Amino acid sequence: MDYGHPLEFGAFITPAASSPEAPVLLSQVAEASGLDLVTFQDHPYQPAFLDTWTLMSFVAARTSTIRIAPNVLNVPLRPPAVVARAAASIDLLSEGRFDLGLGAGGFWDAIEAMGGTRLTPGQAVTALEEAIDLIRELWRTDERRGVFADGRYHRVHGAKRGPRPAHDIPLHIGAYKPRMLALTGRKGDGWLPSLAYLQPGDLAKGNAAIDEAAQSVGRDPREIRRLLNIGQLAADPGEFAERLARLALEDGIGTFILAADDPNLLQRFGEDVAPAVRELVGAERGARGVSAAPVRSAAALAARRDGIAYDDVPAGIRAIEPGDFDYGDVRATYMRGGAPGLVLQPDSPQQVADALAFARRHPELPLAVRSGGHGISGRSTNDGGIVIDLRRLNEIAVIDADRRLVRIGPGARWAQVAAVLGEHGWALTSGDYGGVGVGGLATAGGIGLLAREHGLTIDHLRAAEVVLADGSIVRTDAATHPDLFWAIRGAGANVGVVTAFEFEVDEVGQVGYAQLAFQVDDVAEFLEGYGRAIESAPRDVTLFLLTGGPRPGQPQVVRLYGIVDSDDPDTIIARLQPFAELAPLVQQSVQLTTYPQVMANADLGPQHGAGEPHSRSGLIEHVTPAFAEAAARMLESGAVPFFQLRAVGGAVADVAESATAYGNRSAKFAVAALGSNPDRLDAQWRTLAAHIDGMYLSFDSSLRPERVAEAFPPATLERLRAVKAAYDPTCVFRDNFAIEPAEADAA
Ligand SMILES: Cc1cc2nc3c(=O)[nH]c(=O)nc-3n(C[C@H](O)[C@H](O)[C@H](O)COP(=O)(O)OP(=O)(O)OC[C@H]3O[C@@H](n4cnc5c(N)ncnc54)[C@H](O)[C@@H]3O)c2cc1C
Repeated sequence: MDYGHPLEFGAFITPAASSPEAPVLLSQVAEASGLDLVTFQDHPYQPAFLDTWTLMSFVAARTSTIRIAPNVLNVPLRPPAVVARAAASIDLLSEGRFDLGLGAGGFWDAIEAMGGTRLTPGQAVTALEEAIDLIRELWRTDERRGVFADGRYHRVHGAKRGPRPAHDIPLHIGAYKPRMLALTGRKGDGWLPSLAYLQPGDLAKGNAAIDEAAQSVGRDPREIRRLLNIGQLAADPGEFAERLARLALEDGIGTFILAADDPNLLQRFGEDVAPAVRELVGAERGARGVSAAPVRSAAALAARRDGIAYDDVPAGIRAIEPGDFDYGDVRATYMRGGAPGLVLQPDSPQQVADALAFARRHPELPLAVRSGGHGISGRSTNDGGIVIDLRRLNEIAVIDADRRLVRIGPGARWAQVAAVLGEHGWALTSGDYGGVGVGGLATAGGIGLLAREHGLTIDHLRAAEVVLADGSIVRTDAATHPDLFWAIRGAGANVGVVTAFEFEVDEVGQVGYAQLAFQVDDVAEFLEGYGRAIESAPRDVTLFLLTGGPRPGQPQVVRLYGIVDSDDPDTIIARLQPFAELAPLVQQSVQLTTYPQVMANADLGPQHGAGEPHSRSGLIEHVTPAFAEAAARMLESGAVPFFQLRAVGGAVADVAESATAYGNRSAKFAVAALGSNPDRLDAQWRTLAAHIDGMYLSFDSSLRPERVAEAFPPATLERLRAVKAAYDPTCVFRDNFAIEPAEADAA
């Protein structure tokens, strides 16, 4: 029986405490000889040996490519919850180079002497099974609840999950007896016996037992790699290779681990024997038609969603399916839970075009385009559809220092952009949160803490590279495809996938970053006062207002935060003074800092949003008394726990209304209201409607098509419909505030 696993070769090295450097040097020899993994026995009661975890960590630090594994871990002396963390940690530190070999125990006198509990062989198998379940559960960090397990041998009560390993760590089980073999078949990723403990025929019997157990739970036996600890089976490398090739072809062994503490033996094994075995097995597999492809597990196949031609995903594009280890970290976005059927992560414009072509072959499925995953509408994930996730297109490069021209990929985040530009004394006006992605924000507007002085992010765009709905890759600027260039600045999600942006950025030095909290008795009066103060402030001041609904028994607190672009403390204080006088201050912090430091406010790790976002957005010319009264009443209703007024105006209004697709540039403020109940939110939002002129797409989650007409003034919408008809007539991009293409004759 040949399971077709790609062949691997490893070393089994004695962790001798007498010469602690020796196992480390041998590991380095193994790596230099081209071996795939280095493994160590684990006998924590044995004073002649180094502690295995400590040694593995040390070896991981002193090597760079070889994988590392215990062979096998003594689970009775290592609490599984701690093993889960230790394994994930070494996997992260070694960048995914860890495999976990597990054993049920043995040497019970020694285990008891170390404070462990003596178990019968049967009990030890049950204990190992519980440990396996627990370890895997603790690695599932997309779940938020703590882990509870009430096993007979292992109990945890609310253990926190994580860290999540860098890759799907395979669990290889050291098994000989029927119950252990059955466990390996049901739950293991590999079977790891030692040839020295096997009788002729045992490999075949063991394989059969594992295969039967695997099939009994619906697994494909090929999901379980067969590893084998071996000695030097023949002095002659050719003969040695032939014996291993037979073990591969007849007994399905995919990984050979040579026990040797002799550097010369390891070198010959890696340099002479391993290539010879690969050649012999490759030739025979070719003749028999056995493919050495990795197998997608039956569980992963069962998790596939209907209607997606998974097997036709273009070669080379990273594809993550519902049953894959990484899926939990890519299914949701910051604001919304999701369950897409396929997440494609292209790494070049051509791959984006290929991914789009694949998506176009599934016209009935939702298609989401994702850059940083912070879309407030939540449309960068979906249920059962396809996501084109641009996180790997995240380059940030200076292309012309004299003109301060930079090229930025859509998958970069604004914290990263600020950090890179900051090294040159530059900044690009963005949003206020460093976790937001470039792609979503820079195709919609970009209202940030430098807005009044430097305008919107889109106002700095000089050119872009776009993959169009028909798959063509175009460069657009003011002179090339000018309509497209106009449209991507405000309605980009509707006309293509932007794969690179070229921005002209500003020189920005030290800035004052203010965070002020006020106790406010009269919310309407405060809102009005804030509006007046902003409108009379110089453009170097951009302050946003943030508050929420009333909290029983607590005063209303309103926060102002933002930037005064000055490195002079007196100027900063003078600029803030009119705001500080609006109401009693209960907290204040004003720092002289840099834009990158202001933007270093985000966790850039995986997003695990849940449920649906409910956010409404509008633009207003001024904070009029009538608006302020209506907003205060809305807040009193309790339906809006998050309410924001952002200063726009200033440089935003310097740009002509017709210059970009972003609408209503004369507005001085952007309003956003978030709630958990969409009906209550809408009812309250309607009370503001009379005061609102326009809407900022990036802060709204409404699915009502008529809201598109609120975002774009009639002339802009008409032009957008014509551009849509020219560039996306069949509405490939329709999942995020879809614009109807103009009729053929109008276009
Ligand atoms: C915590 C937080 C703070 C925010 N602060 C601000 C702020 O200060 N100022 C501001 O203006 N906005 C702000 N936003 C809103 C933000 O700008 C938008 O939600 C933006 O769409 C997020 O970009 P993203 O790439 O992270 O989003 P994603 O979720 O990846 O994308 C959002 C949508 O944009 C479209 N899209 C994404 N990438 C591309 C691309 N490359 N080409 C074409 N279309 C694309 C898709 O339709 C997608 O559904 C904030 C959002 C959050 C969650």
